[in-house]
Amino acid sequence: MKRLGVMTSGGDAPGMNAAIRAVTRRALSLGIEVYGINYGYAGLVAGDIFKMERSDVGDIINRGGTMLYSARYPEFAQKEGQLKGIEQLNKFGIEALVVIGGDGSYHGALRLTEHGYNAVGLPGTIDNDIPYTDYTIGFDTAVNTVVESIDKIRDTAASHERTFVIEVMGRGAGDIALWAGVAGGADEIIVPEKEFNIEKIAQNIQDLRARGKKHTIIVLAEGVMHADEFMEQLEQYGDFDARGTVLGHVQRGGSPSAKDRVLASKMGAYAVDLLNEGHGGIAIGTENNKLTYHGMLDLFDSKHKPDLSLYDINKSLAK
Ligand code: ADP
Repeated sequence: MKRLGVMTSGGDAPGMNAAIRAVTRRALSLGIEVYGINYGYAGLVAGDIFKMERSDVGDIINRGGTMLYSARYPEFAQKEGQLKGIEQLNKFGIEALVVIGGDGSYHGALRLTEHGYNAVGLPGTIDNDIPYTDYTIGFDTAVNTVVESIDKIRDTAASHERTFVIEVMGRGAGDIALWAGVAGGADEIIVPEKEFNIEKIAQNIQDLRARGKKHTIIVLAEGVMHADEFMEQLEQYGDFDARGTVLGHVQRGGSPSAKDRVLASKMGAYAVDLLNEGHGGIAIGTENNKLTYHGMLDLFDSKHKPDLSLYDINKSLAK
């Protein structure tokens, strides 16, 4: 392989830059030229492509966001869009592609492989919702951001003896809520993967109050419902002086944690090695602290499962 392309696609995540850096520098060290593609599949089709050198990825390992920008481009689901993308790849002589993104971005990568262009996916999303990987790039940073916010909210919740409902990201997955909930010492964690009973939660808050714990922290995954809706339901069972906080996009930003930088560096280098060996249509993961890869079709057939032991642990610790 002489020329490799790299792009970020879909929702951005801290650590994407560290992954771009790893891909670029590993490829250059193997004598492979690297081309950066701006704005994901939109930039690919538009030919927004440039040659990258070592120095282009200098000073980015510590930066959140993505230097290659990201975009949503639904047109890439159509064959016409895919063929236009391939035309551009041909024009630049790019033989294979690393796509850093989530599930949607993987579909695009698989389509390219089906058209004869090897593409490998790296899991870049704060949601941790990709099968066959214990962690995605950006998840650890997002969890740390949420924990910092919970700590701050705890101060004010304690001063005013209030109940706080903190809505966190994760799309359909409860991973951020589970990890941040345990790390932040939440009284309740509400995730899409576990049923909950609002009346029991209200009773639990009342029991805690009776035992002297006057403030309550509830971490709510956005995939369940919005904080407003949750508080409305809760207030039907008593006056909890509840306040909602929607953390929103702060969770997507910030300097990546050391763990995310290391994960991105390992995965980025591995992706280049696999493409260099002629693999495509695969996604990289880390399972039990080992780098792994699986066919994208296997990924689409399976569902990510969060570590629900965290839910049980929290139940016993919050009592
Ligand atoms: P994420 O990668 O974070 O899941 P999206 O689902 O928005 O984010 O997907 C990112 C991009 O990947 C889309 O805007 C589109 O360009 C491309 N994509 C998504 N689904 C498909 C598909 N079925 N076939 C081809 N390309 C797709």
